[in-house]
Amino acid sequence: MEFPRRIRIGDGILRELGDFVEFPPGKSTAVIASGGNVQEKVKGIVTKSVERPLDWVRVDSSDLENVERVMRAAKKSYCIIGIGGGKSVDVGKLAAFRLNIPFFSVPTSASHDGISSPFASISGSGAHYSERAKPPVGILADIDVIAAAPKKLEAAGCGDLVSKLTAVKDWELASKEAGEYYGEYAANLALMSAQVFLHGSKTIGAYDKASARALVEGLISAGVAAGIAGSSRPCSGSEHLFSHALDAICPGKALHGEQCGIGTIMMASLHGLNWRNVRRALKDVKAPTSGAELGITDDEIKRALVEAPSIRPDRYTILSKVKLDKKSAGELARETRVI
Ligand SMILES: [Zn+2]
Repeated sequence: MEFPRRIRIGDGILRELGDFVEFPPGKSTAVIASGGNVQEKVKGIVTKSVERPLDWVRVDSSDLENVERVMRAAKKSYCIIGIGGGKSVDVGKLAAFRLNIPFFSVPTSASHDGISSPFASISGSGAHYSERAKPPVGILADIDVIAAAPKKLEAAGCGDLVSKLTAVKDWELASKEAGEYYGEYAANLALMSAQVFLHGSKTIGAYDKASARALVEGLISAGVAAGIAGSSRPCSGSEHLFSHALDAICPGKALHGEQCGIGTIMMASLHGLNWRNVRRALKDVKAPTSGAELGITDDEIKRALVEAPSIRPDRYTILSKVKLDKKSAGELARETRVI
């Protein structure tokens, strides 16, 4: 099991980043991986707080080229600090893992569980995939910063949270039908994140500081569950395969969490769960519940459902059991009002 050593969540705590990192004597530099926009917003606060030379590396895409660029810059650094939404955290995490130096995660939005998980979502050779790394040593989540992020990102975070419902069901199924290891503690921890969202969607939909906090706590817990399981199983099932298939079929149309949320509605139906409840909760937070809202065509939805199991054939899910074809995929998507 691998855990982050320190997690701090609070208002205005970005200005405490320097103390949080606890630089050892001697090794005094750090590389900051972040996108251009984020850099503009936080550079002043971070520079003042850290009080030592920092090398800012601009991350523009979550691919290996960016990972290598960050690695080159960080060869003599004590640590890498990833500040941003998704890309910078993924790229910084993998670069630090490969250099075997500490990684600190500083999320500026609550849009997915990569904030705390031991996995980095990286694209290479045309596809997106999760690469095993290590969880961040520390996570510093400034609620003032996260609450000021676009609501669309938080709505996507809700989609990634609710997806633990079907991910855990898929994991249980894989244990029953394919003899896979199933860790009850990790499964329950991930499931709790989904349930906190399902029960609290109305208040989370207010998009105030309390909802940003609830969301970021849920996403961090879910990522920690993956660290406990030593696999992405508690966080990623058939609904994630559906999202990965959409990434291959129509890349860049929607956010990861938006696609996972829609996937969860349909996979909940296949599992015999209350998919209407999932849909209602997503609606409460104004997250998309249909392909049309994301500019994804009915045909792309159906294709993604059919192609999802081949994205990762070793991952047994409800889609391995049900085996959808174009016709049954269309029926499922229509029945759950995704198309
Ligand atoms: Zn996810």
